[in-house]
Formats: sequence, C-alpha cells, structure tokens
Amino acid sequence: MSDTKFDLPFKNPTIPEVLAPETPIHFRCYKGISCFNACCKQADVTLAPYDILRLKRRLGLSSSEFIRQYAVPFEMDGDGLPGLKLKTDDSGTCLQLNGDAGCGVYEDRPTVCRYYPVALLALREKGSSEAKEQYSLVKEGHCKGHEEDREISIADYRAEQGCEEYDDLNREWYQLILKKKSAGPTVGKPPMTSLQLFFMASYDLDNFRRFVLSDKFRATYVLPDGFYAEIEHNDEELLGFAYRFLRQVLFGERSVEEVADAWEQRVTQRKTVWDARREEEIARRQKAEDDKYACGSEGTYCGDN
Ligand code: SF4
Ligand code: SF4
Repeated sequence: MSDTKFDLPFKNPTIPEVLAPETPIHFRCYKGISCFNACCKQADVTLAPYDILRLKRRLGLSSSEFIRQYAVPFEMDGDGLPGLKLKTDDSGTCLQLNGDAGCGVYEDRPTVCRYYPVALLALREKGSSEAKEQYSLVKEGHCKGHEEDREISIADYRAEQGCEEYDDLNREWYQLILKKKSAGPTVGKPPMTSLQLFFMASYDLDNFRRFVLSDKFRATYVLPDGFYAEIEHNDEELLGFAYRFLRQVLFGERSVEEVADAWEQRVTQRKTVWDARREEEIARRQKAEDDKYACGSEGTYCGDN
C-alpha cells in the first residue's frame, strides 16, 4: 500500500489505476492526427530541473532569462515549496507551440510532454526510504491517440519518447520532494532562505553556479580538487551537486562537508561587521551630540561675542 505519492504532472485527470512498466497501452500520436496540437493548446506542464536545463540551452538563454520569459511560479505544497510551470498565452496555449508545425522545442520538450498520456508516479511505500516509479494513464476527451490501433508497453513507450535520460537526471529531485512530502510537519516549514536556495538550485542553475563558485562558498565547504573547474562548464555535474546540496538545505543532512571552523569563521565575520556597525553608530550619535552643543548652535552660549 503506498504511503506517499508524487506525480508528474501534479494535477491531472488520471485514471487512478497504478500501472507497471510492462503494462500495455493503446496509443499513438503523430503529425496529421485529427487532434494534432490539441494537448499543447491546454498546456499544464510542470517543469523539473533537467527540463529547464534542456530548454534554456535550446533557446540560447540563461536560466534566469528562461524563467522570466517562459515560466510561471506556483507552490508545490502548503509550505510554499516553489514550483515552475511552462508559460502559456491567455487561451492556455504553450508559448513553445509553433503553429501547425507543432512543438518548437520537440527534441528538448519537457518530461511531462514526453510522458503524455502516461503520468509518472513516484510512490513511497510504508517503511521504505526509496521511491518506486510507477505509472498511470491520462485520458482526456480531446486526445484521439487512445483510439489508434497500436499496443505498446509503458517501458517501450518511455524508451521511444526519450524519458529515461530525463528521469535519470531528475530522479534525485523527485526523491527530495517525496521525502519533504512524506516527512510532513516533522521537518517543519523551511525558512525563507531555504526556499530561496531550493528555487535557485532546482531551477536557476546559472545563478547557482555563481553561488557555488563564490569565495564565501569555497571558504565554507570542503570539496575535492577539480570540483570547481568541472562544475564551471558541466551543467549536468552541477545539477547533481545541486541535489546533494539541497539534502543539506531541506533536511540538515551532512551531504556536503563543511570546513572545520566554518561556523566559527562566519560568527567571527559577523561579529566584526556588527562591531564596526556599532562603532559607526556610536560615532554618529557622538557627532550629533557635539553638533548640538557646538558654539553657534541654536540655544548655545559662546562667551562675550
Ligand atoms: S513544450 Fe512542446 S510539447 Fe510541451 S506543451 Fe509546449 S508545445 Fe506542447
Ligand atoms: S494524440 Fe493526444 S498527445 Fe497527440 S497531438 Fe493529439 S492530443 Fe496531443
């Protein structure tokens, strides 16, 4: 019996039956089918981290630019865990739809679009720490692909649609979200800084790279030789590190080793800043007092003049 469920897409009219990889489905989608593009005109596409990586590369944008132009935020849970969906126009049509030609980013289309009409479910069984991937079938009236005479197993459909590479690079992120969901109130609501780090590490990879390459980060964490040179150019490596870092951010796991006295160093640095600010404030007040009683100020007495 499943305990916790996380699915992509998050909200869908799925037939709630859980299907195994070997389960056959009847489905075919092709250019020329009567409903061609109907699904992209009612797009509700939740984005996973690797989806954004592929799309921003495809469109020649930075991750921040991609998010600004082509994504809309939503909250994935009651704690405000940030999620992103593909932006649509006012009628619900995906901005990546290229008229009758179909999807303009087809080779780099997101996971949800690849899987459709299958939905990926990550299920965690009671007593297990591992998520198990299973599937369900989405049946929507506008989609005529279900009426096509082709039987294919879900495993073969995943391979045909190139889902495996996407799942491999998103899997750890699904596990994080599932763990967050199943932990419920025991981990509590993450502070705003953790939610901001979750957003940056999950979606805004170019900014996350700058964060990791900063002097402050390097002074805080112990990472092997060559790590920084590798992640400077390798997005997939950086994404793997982002998931590892998020385990620390969300669950306090020691997934990235900190330098021995990092905490003390931070406290000392902050103390230096606080001391400097306090001295500045004392000097400011002192000057204000001096000015108040300086000769010539209103109400002061300056001898015989
Ligand atoms: S990304 Fe492509 S396949 Fe996905 S909804 Fe948009 S146009 Fe359709
Ligand atoms: S068959 Fe379904 S998935 Fe394919 S274009 Fe039609 S509505 Fe979209």
